[in-house]
Amino acid sequence: MQKPPLIWLTTLVFAITFLVSVIGVPWYGLTHGFSTTLVVAMIATIGFAGISITAGYHRLWAHKTYDAHWSLRILFALGGALAVQNSALHWSSDHREHHKHVDDNDKDPYSAKRGFWYSHIGWMLREYHASRYSNYDNCKDLQNDPVVMWQHRNYLTLTLLTTFGWPVALGLMVGDIWGAVLLVGFARLVINHHTTFFINSLAHMWGKQTYTDRNTARDNGWLAFLTFGEGYHNYHHIFSADYRNGIRWWHYDPTKWLIRSCSWLGLTSNLKRTNGFQVEKARLEMQFKALRNEGGISCETTMERLQHEYDVLIAKLRQYYQVRKQFLDARAKTIAEQMHMPTLNELQKQVEDLRQAFREHRHQFRELVNASLRKPSEQLN
Ligand SMILES: [Zn+2]
Ligand SMILES: [Zn+2]
Repeated sequence: MQKPPLIWLTTLVFAITFLVSVIGVPWYGLTHGFSTTLVVAMIATIGFAGISITAGYHRLWAHKTYDAHWSLRILFALGGALAVQNSALHWSSDHREHHKHVDDNDKDPYSAKRGFWYSHIGWMLREYHASRYSNYDNCKDLQNDPVVMWQHRNYLTLTLLTTFGWPVALGLMVGDIWGAVLLVGFARLVINHHTTFFINSLAHMWGKQTYTDRNTARDNGWLAFLTFGEGYHNYHHIFSADYRNGIRWWHYDPTKWLIRSCSWLGLTSNLKRTNGFQVEKARLEMQFKALRNEGGISCETTMERLQHEYDVLIAKLRQYYQVRKQFLDARAKTIAEQMHMPTLNELQKQVEDLRQAFREHRHQFRELVNASLRKPSEQLN
């Protein structure tokens, strides 16, 4: 099959910035050296452009996982232009198609099933999806956001101003224009580009399928470190309405931390989170599925018993979250009306007991699984 025509401008931008970064930047570093100020400025610029994509383009605009004050939206629009990844409207349109048709080689703009090169960068180099951008009708909501539309109309000007204007201005300030253009202009852009592109390529290939195996998305802590927290991509694909990607406190997700901290300042609001029951249930389902697929348990009675224990575990989990919700609602009401303290205390005790019971049952279930894998016939007869 003949490939669609090359998009020369995009291809040249990627090729030139890459070549200058791998040849020109080390050469300048060895012959002239880079000042600490420039290195710090490069890291800060990577952070600003990168997080504008993850917190702004991705979690705010493409997925609507929270609301943001106009001042923050303007910052994200500027940082997004600096990241050189097209306008927020265009980016979100692609990304919504990616979620809707994930892994479909024809409809997913960067389907990982078409290989690393295609999902990483190849999809942008040719006219694969040109027909889709006539009216951005999958982003009607974003067309009502004046900041999104302002950035879309002025994308080229904003991109040129930020990507060239900032390094040149910095270079004038520190007295090293070439150093600033090479490090904060070229190298910074290439790092921003490829770390974001890893989310479409590597985050669909390398890591664990913690919550679902219905698509190729993976959870990977290393990738989270390189992508401002977007490496928990398996979680993200199943619960994409959640403003978090890394949901545990030890998960590296600076994008989540930024959104949350901004909510304390009144800059973000309406932060959406997935119900804990759904998350835990998806995780247990995958664990049980892996156990069945391992094939280590051949005895049918054992399998039946495990299935029964698993069903009980899910029922306990559901009960725990139901009572927990009752408790949280009652607590909110009690605080508002300052009454019914005994009911609240009783509910709190129930929640604690149920959580304890669920944890004990989960522990027993795991023991049972391990025992059945070791000695399938002896242990359960
Ligand atoms: Zn997404
Ligand atoms: Zn994805």
